[in-house]
Order: sequence, then C-alpha cells, then structure tokens
Amino acid sequence: MASQSHRPTLLQRLPDRVAGLLREIGQLGDEWGCRVYVVGGVVRDLLLGHVTLDLDLTVEGDGVAFARLVADRYRAGIAVFERFATARLVFPDGLKMDIATTRRESYAQPAELPTVQPASIEEDLYRRDFTINAIALQLNPGQFGRLLDAYGGQRDLRARTIRVLHAGSFQDDPTRIFRAVRFEQRLKFRLERKTSRLLAQAASTNLIQQLSGPRLQNEILLLLAERDPVRVMARLSQLRLLRFLHRRLSYTTKVKRVVMAVPKALAWWTRRFPDREIDKPIVYFMALSSESSQAVVATMSKRLALSREQARKASAGGTLVDRVLKKLIDERTVRPSQVYRLLVDLPDETLVLVLAKQMSLQQTAILSRLKRQLVAYMKDRTIKTALMGRDLQSMGLTPGPQYGTILGKLLDARIDGTITTEVDERALACKLLKKGLLSFVKRET
Ligand code: ATP
Repeated sequence: MASQSHRPTLLQRLPDRVAGLLREIGQLGDEWGCRVYVVGGVVRDLLLGHVTLDLDLTVEGDGVAFARLVADRYRAGIAVFERFATARLVFPDGLKMDIATTRRESYAQPAELPTVQPASIEEDLYRRDFTINAIALQLNPGQFGRLLDAYGGQRDLRARTIRVLHAGSFQDDPTRIFRAVRFEQRLKFRLERKTSRLLAQAASTNLIQQLSGPRLQNEILLLLAERDPVRVMARLSQLRLLRFLHRRLSYTTKVKRVVMAVPKALAWWTRRFPDREIDKPIVYFMALSSESSQAVVATMSKRLALSREQARKASAGGTLVDRVLKKLIDERTVRPSQVYRLLVDLPDETLVLVLAKQMSLQQTAILSRLKRQLVAYMKDRTIKTALMGRDLQSMGLTPGPQYGTILGKLLDARIDGTITTEVDERALACKLLKKGLLSFVKRET
C-alpha cells in the first residue's frame, strides 16, 4: 500500500492561477466520479523546492474523456493519442498539461513501445522510470494534496539517489538508461548501487541498438539540451554510452577540449549576435563529432533520425570545421570577401564550433583575430549589391551563368570596400563585361 501523507501546501507553491486550476480540475474529478492526480516531474521538483509547469495529470478512469471535459471547460486546445490513452492540452494562456489514464504497461518486446491497460494509481506509479518520478498528489476536494509515495520516492530524494522500481526496468525501456543520466546530472544525484549495476548490465547488451531512431534522438537531444551538457557528455562517455551513436565515436582529449569550450563560444556568440538563435543541442552534437569524418557524422545523423535541418547543420561539422578554421587563420586570408566566401554557406552552428575549436587551442592572438573576422563577416553578410540581373540585361548581357559571376564579383568588391556606390558597380560591371567579351573573342580566334 502506498505511503501517504497530506501536503496541500506543496501545491500552493505553484503560481496561484495554476494551483487554482488544479483545485478546479480536482472538483471536476469529483463531479465526474474519478480520482485525479498530478504526478511525475512536477511533484518531484516541488518536493525539491523548484517550480516547473510541465503538468502531468493522471486519472483513475477514462483519462481521455476527462481531458476532453477539461479542454471544453477551459477552451484549451487538445491533441489525443488514443494508443497511449493520453491527451495533451494547451490552455489559452499557453500552459501545457498532459492528462492520461492510470495504466499498467506490458512490453511484448524489450525496447519497443508498450501496450497499455487501465489500472490503479499504484500500478501506474510502478510502471514509471525512477522512484523519484513515481510520486503523486491527489487533486480531488477533501483529498487535495494527498501524497502517494508507494516506492520510497521521498526517501530517494532525500538521499539524492536515482533508483529504478524493478530489475527489468532498463530492459523494458532502454530510454531509461539515458533518462537516468539526465536526472543524475541535472539534479547532481547518484545512481543507487543496484540501479547502477543494472544500467551497466543493460548498456553492455544490444538493447539500445534496438531503440528506434526517433526515440534515441529524443533522449540524446534532451541530454544535450540540459543546462550542463559538458558534464552530461563526460558521464555518457564514462558509462560507455557514446558508442551507441557510432561505434567509432570516442571522447578523446581533443574532443573533450572542444566540448568544454562550447559554453564559452556560445556565450560569446549570444552576446554579440543576440538575434541569431543557435540550436544548442546540435552545436554540442557537432562538438562531440568534431574529430569524426563526414561519413561517420552522416551515419550518426541517420541513426538518430535527425530532421533534415539538423542533419544539414551536423554535416557542416566534423573535420570540415578544421579545414575552415585553417583557412580562416591562414595569413593569406586577408580580404573580407575571402572570409565571406569561406563562411557564407555554413550554418551559424558551424561558426560557433569554429570558435569553440579555436578557443580549445588557447592561442590568444589568433582567437582575437578570429573573433574580429566573425564580427566583420556577420556585418558583411547583410551587404547587397545595388545591381541585379535585370540591370545586367539592360547593359546588354544575355541571361546566363555569367550573371552570377559578375554579381558575385560586385558583391566581393562591395564587401572589400573597393567600390561603394551603384555608379561604381556599373563601372566595374562594364569592365568585367568587356574583359569577359575579350576573353570570349580570344577563345574564338
Ligand atoms: P523533465 O523535468 O525533464 O520534464 P519529467 O520527469 O517531467 O522530466 P517527462 O519525460 O515529462 O519527465 O515524463 C513525465 C513522467 O512520466 C516522469 O516523471 C515519469 O514518471 C514518467 N515517464 C516518462 N518517461 C518514462 C519512461 N521512459 N519510463 C517510465 N516512466 C516514464
């Protein structure tokens, strides 16, 4: 039987409107004849003295029907996932809430998604990942704030340990291996001894290989989105989990230095270019694969089923970054247009990585030059030519690939500051046209 206590004041730590809403939803539960609980991360965080607003509710009864009732009452948007008997609500003020039916889960195959059947709250808590995430607070009037902690969640919160609920937990769902690292590193907890053994055991099998791309991606990107991905990566390496991204991926001293320089590079970037948002998890992913070949990066992106956009960014990483950096800091790269041409097709994430790489080398003079180059480049990329294709046409040039060449040269000259006005552009275009014509005539004769 669940250990119970009454903690109504816990819910009052939530913002008033949220606590009020939960109270009303509890009343709705009574009217409807079902028990309603808030459960999981919010309860864990409240007990730790933090407030998070990703609300997970669970209902002893038809959770989806109850979710529809709540959505109707509060004009919330609703998306229903029938297979898992869950619904996601978005309230008009943006508040998000998941509502599910209390259920037991069975795993026909390890690493695959479970089938679910309605069950009691105790069983529902038992199917959860860790004891600290298996605590519920009831919302019904009279029981508002009744805390159910059947598996020692509060004890483990006090002892700062991550503990699975049963020995088969990682086998049922290997994503829990990564979740364990996520909570351990975020909360600065430790894996309880047996849990640690079970995790190592599960990680030594091919269970994680059986996870689908999207499920593995979700876990990895969540880990890389944590506040301190540097610690997270060191831990993944220590637990020998990085090999599930690619068997040849290893956390060498060089990679580690780049990863460790990323926070500084990101901070610099955000200070300089606050409007250019960076996909931080992808930068860390790129840092992690910064010593990998393009082929290895491509295989990793495929394994993780990265979105097309993220895969495109990741592919502009790996050893390509070294080549870009080498050219940038080459003494012969003096003209701003050279820098522009070198960087123009690269995503911002690559630029951050170039910077992180240089930071990891600790060569102050080169780093200052690189920063100046980046600042200048970001300004230069807003420069446009005054002339366009149709202007060249009216100057007598028939449309064709030479348009791109000439306009490119005009842009380079603008960036280098050798021309500054439309008149200059026209003059340069004429010169280039003549030169082009001459070389054409030369070729003909
Ligand atoms: P976060 O603070 O990162 O959002 P959370 O604890 O809220 O963490 P969610 O992924 O939002 O985590 O899941 C909500 C709850 O659902 C968890 O607290 C846990 O009880 C349960 N849960 C989520 N994923 C799993 C899983 N793979 N196995 C078992 N239980 C899970």
